[in-house]
Amino acid sequence: MATTNQKRDYYQVLGVNRQAGAEEIKKAYRRLALQWHPDRNPSNKHEAEERFKEITEAYTVLADPQKRTAYDRYGHAGLGAQPFADFDETIFADFEDLFGGFFNLEDLFGLGGGRRHRARVRRGSDLRYDMEISFEEAARGLTTKIKVPRRESCPSCRGSGARPGTGPTSCGACQGRGQLRYQQGFFTITRTCPSCQGAGQIVREPCKACQGDGRVERERTLEIRIPPGVDSQTRLRITGEGEQGINGGPPGDLYVILEVREHPFFERRNSDLYCTIPVNFAQAALGADISVPTLAGEENLHIPEGTQTSSIFRLKGKGLPDPNSGTKGDLYVNIRVVTPAKLTREQKRLLQELGQSLPEECRPAQRNSSIFEKVKDIFG
Ligand SMILES: [Zn+2]
Ligand SMILES: [Zn+2]
Repeated sequence: MATTNQKRDYYQVLGVNRQAGAEEIKKAYRRLALQWHPDRNPSNKHEAEERFKEITEAYTVLADPQKRTAYDRYGHAGLGAQPFADFDETIFADFEDLFGGFFNLEDLFGLGGGRRHRARVRRGSDLRYDMEISFEEAARGLTTKIKVPRRESCPSCRGSGARPGTGPTSCGACQGRGQLRYQQGFFTITRTCPSCQGAGQIVREPCKACQGDGRVERERTLEIRIPPGVDSQTRLRITGEGEQGINGGPPGDLYVILEVREHPFFERRNSDLYCTIPVNFAQAALGADISVPTLAGEENLHIPEGTQTSSIFRLKGKGLPDPNSGTKGDLYVNIRVVTPAKLTREQKRLLQELGQSLPEECRPAQRNSSIFEKVKDIFG
């Protein structure tokens, strides 16, 4: 294996510190690229080329967040033998005025050379499917079928886009390379071929079924399983069920975004449920067994003698399951003592009698905190 010369630190090469932001790196590169542009240094062309390569390599790495992270962690060793391989073209998009377009780094660094351009392989798009489910469905989970319209490979032309019986022909403008190259001084500039949009092939007789696109819209029925305990905005990812890739690329993913309808009396916070149960004054004062609705049916709850309004009771494990772990949350029951609004004459007489024997309450009460805070205070 060939050994490389001791490489300089990329930050040092660009004259920026290690915390430099993207804008600062870009600025430093622009300044140095202008300074060492070989066309501007006809008298010391060789040194300029070397310096230009060095700063371009440093920029290619530091402008790419992934490569920069690898470099920060492991230094030059983190990038392999060709730090500028698979570079992101778009990082040079702001330098068109310097280079007249994207230039070919492979040529600049003398790599590979004359590799034939393949038709651009692209991953299919992701699809989003919004779905509304009831509170009970979210609690129990469900398996259901959904219909997803998506573009799939055209069966008539098997995805080629050419009328069956004919085939796509090599693009004349780029000789099937998909790119056009221009020599501009020191650089070879490569542009995507405008005649074939980089595909390298041209369809002369387009397939009627897909108008030459190679893909047709199809409605697919998919069975999806929604785990119990999901909440609104839960995103289910169904791998590979998005749109078909282009030129043999992998398909995208399908994301099912859930919207859970509200429940008439349950409120939820993560896996815990909250509900308010009214009781009358006598039940609260004397204690009572009350019936509480849960997701699994009615449940008995004993409230003790002297229960105050806004007292909270916990039914352990009667909440929702966590969709990932399956652990169940709790159900918190908020007791509301209801003051009777309509009384018969007899009831009024009884209450008056009771009232005379009760002490008068006239001290200001403490401020009421929210039910959620109260639960945190009491049950931690
Ligand atoms: Zn077709
Ligand atoms: Zn072409």
